[in-house]
Amino acid sequence: MKLRKTKNKRKNGCPLYGWPFLSWYVNIKKRKWGSDMIDAHVHIERGPYTKEWIMEFISYAEKRDIDRLYLLEHSHRFSDFVNIYDSILENKDCGEYQREWLSRKSELRLSDYKDFINEMRKYKFPIEISFGLEICYFPEKEEEIKECVSNFDWDFLTGSIHWIDGWGFDHPKTKDSWNERDIDNVYKRYYELMIQLVQSNIFDILAHPDSIKCFGHYPSSDFTNIYESLATALKESEMKAEFSNGLYINYGHKELGLNTDLLKILLDNNVQIVTASDAHRPEDVGKYIMEARELIYKLILNRSTT
Ligand SMILES: [Zn+2]
Ligand SMILES: [Zn+2]
Repeated sequence: MKLRKTKNKRKNGCPLYGWPFLSWYVNIKKRKWGSDMIDAHVHIERGPYTKEWIMEFISYAEKRDIDRLYLLEHSHRFSDFVNIYDSILENKDCGEYQREWLSRKSELRLSDYKDFINEMRKYKFPIEISFGLEICYFPEKEEEIKECVSNFDWDFLTGSIHWIDGWGFDHPKTKDSWNERDIDNVYKRYYELMIQLVQSNIFDILAHPDSIKCFGHYPSSDFTNIYESLATALKESEMKAEFSNGLYINYGHKELGLNTDLLKILLDNNVQIVTASDAHRPEDVGKYIMEARELIYKLILNRSTT
């Protein structure tokens, strides 16, 4: 059974999502070059559930010429999802910190967020906005996740890997837990979990598909085959993959978006790429989306001329 309820079906053959049919050099309607400007990953978590708060995000989106904004909350914010995080509580390296982190974060009720979305759907906003969730994926918790997201027409569901067998690899406070780990094995397990996420058919969008590089650790072995398997799974599941500026913005990582090897393989396999800021505050909405598009377009055009 597919739970996904996406309203954003693919409309054309272009790998960059939002590219208008037959007018990809010039978007006549909007009088500008290229596709719709999309920011597909914006957290609204630092403010109240009010229209005024949403308007702050929209105001920055308009300043940066964004046409479509995907607003979301992270699953760890809700007490309803707390059971999917069982494996992080007992982790031998970071369990204590992670337990405290989760109990501090999971203070909201999902029903309040759903009520807020229903309320916001009554308004006409100056740009297209969608509401969804970023959900941490744990393979042993698929049924619980499905149960949590059922009975509501989410605009989109984004799936992310933030935990590897109970270990939160991207928390700045437990950065030292990377020491002593076998980097290649960490990467292999990360992508194994990611492929399971994609094959679960719960999600519409895969979040930040190479966030494992967050603290600058890179594998020594070749990941081409693994990237190919991920691309095949994404294509079969009709999921989009993010080109995420999140590490660039939030971690000071030097590379904007996806690593080129993985991006090329996704494009070769016709996986749709969606641009995303992973903004956690209104000021970061739409940040570097233009630069991300230029980078992706360049790669697409280079591929088509070589
Ligand atoms: Zn994330
Ligand atoms: Zn996020």
